[in-house]
Amino acid sequence: MRLETIGFRSTAPRRAVLQAIERAPGPFTVEDLLGELPGVGRATVFRTIKLLQELDLLCRVPLEDGSVRYQLSEGTHHHHLVCRACGRFTEFADLELDTRIQEQAAQHGFHLQGHSLELYGLCPECGTAGVA
Ligand SMILES: [Zn+2]
Ligand SMILES: [Zn+2]
Ligand SMILES: [Zn+2]
Repeated sequence: MRLETIGFRSTAPRRAVLQAIERAPGPFTVEDLLGELPGVGRATVFRTIKLLQELDLLCRVPLEDGSVRYQLSEGTHHHHLVCRACGRFTEFADLELDTRIQEQAAQHGFHLQGHSLELYGLCPECGTAGVA
């Protein structure tokens, strides 16, 4: 990843966090990540996650039970379809939807600084498996 070019100061602990994120087989929690990185301080892990999120390189996906999962992002703004059964995220982008969101904020005199959107349900595989 060309992280330095977008303002990510690369240090050894940060690289370790990144590598652990890249190794993750699927969506993960902060606790998962900490478990993978016994030699890296909690604060560094949290700071790196926050930084990657700010750079749009990491998705933060809140689940309905209040827990949060993270997943590497393509680096562009998008939304999520979250499967309740298998926990997989599917990403989608919709410029029209984003325009509508901005219009809504403007109509309310709201200074919009960001948004995230999660749709919860069943992915095609879980939907046809009859999981309710
Ligand atoms: Zn995402
Ligand atoms: Zn599913
Ligand atoms: Zn959006």
